[in-house]
Amino acid sequence: MSKALVLSKETAPAVPSPSLTEAQKGFARHLIKWQRLHGRHDLPWQKNLQPYPVWLSEVMLQQTQVSTVKAYFEKFMTRFPRIEDLAQAQEEEVMSLWSGLGYYSRGRNLHACAQRVVADFKGEFPSSMEDLVKLPGIGPSTAAAIASICFSQKAAIMDGNVARVLTRYLGFSEDLSQSANQRGLKQLAQLLLPSKAKDMPTYTQGIMDLGATVCMPKRVLCERCPVQSTCYAHAHDLISALPLKSKKIKRKHKSIYWLIAINDRFEVLGGKRALGGIWAGMHAFPEFESEAALRASLPAVTEVQALTVVQHELTHLSLSIHGFLWQEHSTGSSRPSSKRRIHKPHVTAVGFNPPGYAWMGLEEWAQVGRPKPVSDFLEQVKALE
Ligand code: SF4
Repeated sequence: MSKALVLSKETAPAVPSPSLTEAQKGFARHLIKWQRLHGRHDLPWQKNLQPYPVWLSEVMLQQTQVSTVKAYFEKFMTRFPRIEDLAQAQEEEVMSLWSGLGYYSRGRNLHACAQRVVADFKGEFPSSMEDLVKLPGIGPSTAAAIASICFSQKAAIMDGNVARVLTRYLGFSEDLSQSANQRGLKQLAQLLLPSKAKDMPTYTQGIMDLGATVCMPKRVLCERCPVQSTCYAHAHDLISALPLKSKKIKRKHKSIYWLIAINDRFEVLGGKRALGGIWAGMHAFPEFESEAALRASLPAVTEVQALTVVQHELTHLSLSIHGFLWQEHSTGSSRPSSKRRIHKPHVTAVGFNPPGYAWMGLEEWAQVGRPKPVSDFLEQVKALE
């Protein structure tokens, strides 16, 4: 446990007791009033607080910033205005629209969830937490967001933003990497809810807004906070120590090598990755564990051109992706000659469903689900045209 994060027993409440002080009981009231006056009211999914757009935005927001999600949300709502439209779409199209949002299992679950809601609930999201958490890709916090915002149910959301606000507000100093402590905080969150169910949509939006715009990780704007007068961390100068998380994920670093082969028609070789591992089922380029292995997969006398390395962060992994451009009979000119014979290199790469490579035009690449680093390299390829 980091020394800097240990709170003294005199200053921090030892164990989260499942009760609130009289002052803390005013939390919901102050938050609701603040949300009405100062909260966010112009997010695209707030125009229509129906379960479909709320669910769509919540799934997109699970690991992604609001600023990024806005454009994706609009794109999905334009293409799939009703849940039935999403359910009937081809998975390839859904994943193509999802490309760039990352955490691609969310995109696949989104599609599967739409199909389940249409098949099992006639296209209407269920209102109970119990039914919601059984749907693909809907965890307890997303279920609570839908249940509280759309059905005024007294369900407490608990994502990273909310955990930060509540640990600070309550002086909750237990280690949130342990599930027993997560449950303890959840119990307290449930106690903080407003007494009237009709206030739940505003309350849930308020706590999300507070975490996103006031009680932020590093920029903490206590002077604008509606619950400052009863906030434990503010009173005891413990803001930077909370929330306490002793087990920080250490990302491993890895280099991978992608072959970006181009033929005379300016098509790029690619295929679907295997179902398992990172970017499962997405379209990408042949991948190798070393530059030597990549070169060995090509005809003996050949040149490859190193492209700009793409850095990509995953939850547990920090990737350096080295892209090597290969054009048959490369002469150093960036544009392949139109007279060249179309040749498909016999590559055996890791992480793919062999022999699943095909030449794909740039328009075709734009229509398939692909990880962001693939799009980054395709941009570099486009610049050669
Ligand atoms: S007073 Fe400061 S630390 Fe406490 S909840 Fe408000 S913004 Fe967060």
